[in-house]
Amino acid sequence: MNTYLSRIVVCLLWLTTAAGAVAQDFDHWFINRTLRVDYAFAGTDKEADLSLIELVSSPGWWGRRHHLDSLALRGNGQITMQDAASGDTIYRMSFSSLFQEWQTTEEATRVRRSFENVYLLPFPKRPADVSVELLDNRGAVVASLHHRVDPSDILIRRTDSLPAAPHRYITRGGTPDDCIDVAIVAEGYTETEMEAFYADARAATEAIFAHEPFKSLKGRFNVVAVATPSAESGVSRPKQGSWRRTAFGSHFDTFYSDRYLTTLRLRTLHDALAGIPYEHIIILANTDQYGGGGIYNSYVLSSTRHAQFLPVVVHEFGHSFAALADEYAYDDEYSPMYPDGIEPWEQNITTLTDFASKWADLVPAGTPVPTPPVRNAAGRFSKVGLFEGAGYRSHGVYRPCTDCRMRTNTAPEFCPVCRRAIERLVRYYTH
Ligand SMILES: [Zn+2]
Repeated sequence: MNTYLSRIVVCLLWLTTAAGAVAQDFDHWFINRTLRVDYAFAGTDKEADLSLIELVSSPGWWGRRHHLDSLALRGNGQITMQDAASGDTIYRMSFSSLFQEWQTTEEATRVRRSFENVYLLPFPKRPADVSVELLDNRGAVVASLHHRVDPSDILIRRTDSLPAAPHRYITRGGTPDDCIDVAIVAEGYTETEMEAFYADARAATEAIFAHEPFKSLKGRFNVVAVATPSAESGVSRPKQGSWRRTAFGSHFDTFYSDRYLTTLRLRTLHDALAGIPYEHIIILANTDQYGGGGIYNSYVLSSTRHAQFLPVVVHEFGHSFAALADEYAYDDEYSPMYPDGIEPWEQNITTLTDFASKWADLVPAGTPVPTPPVRNAAGRFSKVGLFEGAGYRSHGVYRPCTDCRMRTNTAPEFCPVCRRAIERLVRYYTH
């Protein structure tokens, strides 16, 4: 093991373009609009079926204009857009979905359900073929959908005439073309509670940018708070029999898990953001019950009236923005998300199946595996090693440090491996 830890690692973390692919020119393939693709993912624990609900066209494209045909991370799902005439890959993106999490629950063994999923693509100039693929936890494609997008299709719904909801910028690093655009929306705040929402949005933004590497890279972000009022204050708590009329219909007890606060209404969420430049979404929920959730390239949901609001929202942003895995263990999973013998694609955990692709270059030679938990004099982090217990398993999955924002709410920061993964992603998006 020591030999393997100390060897020189060529870092291949960033999946690059397929062999032979050429650099893409945004203006050659796309116009300055967004193509919103709304899908239904349906199925059970054993199978999935994907279908298209609607295509939506809106002014402006706020995502990246470079690295168009490459993926930053593998994800649990991928979308590929190809020019129909030439077959050239012109855009790719990856994501994770609540549907795939649900497939690992006991409920999925006895009922078939469907979930909305919404993704943003640049709008093609010419007919394009879009492929959506879901991958299982071993990396195999388990479901796919292929459909053609004809830019002249009259049934692509246009949002040009929709007015943008009232909004305020909290931080503005530059133009939407140059920066990563994050929108924060209100859930469970009534019209008269909007000042409280803006204050919470400001606090969440300050918390994120108090953490490295967001702190050093703040100039590459725009964050806008969007006032999306609810008819009633608070959010639904099914376990207490309490259901509220809120902007996005979110609720606790997702998958019967107390703290899991999510919304299934992805289309309503994206409709509410018409006219606002955005790529990533944070939903702030006006409730004092502890909870939240974060899904890679989908959204963050976090409760704001709880004492742990700020560390939780940063943790969940680690999931939704950077696809970081949870570094804690609890061993009551219905089925393991990270099985033995398969290297997770998330950058901050490892099963040691392909540790060279992770943080082997940061581990000092001679570091024992597993690394015994130790704290330094400041009571903070150990050096980087291989600490057993992460990805919901006490054994067989390893994390980089004793503690991290992706492990506990008391950790003061992201561990060095998470920091590196976030920084790489920010640089990938912003060039
Ligand atoms: Zn970490």
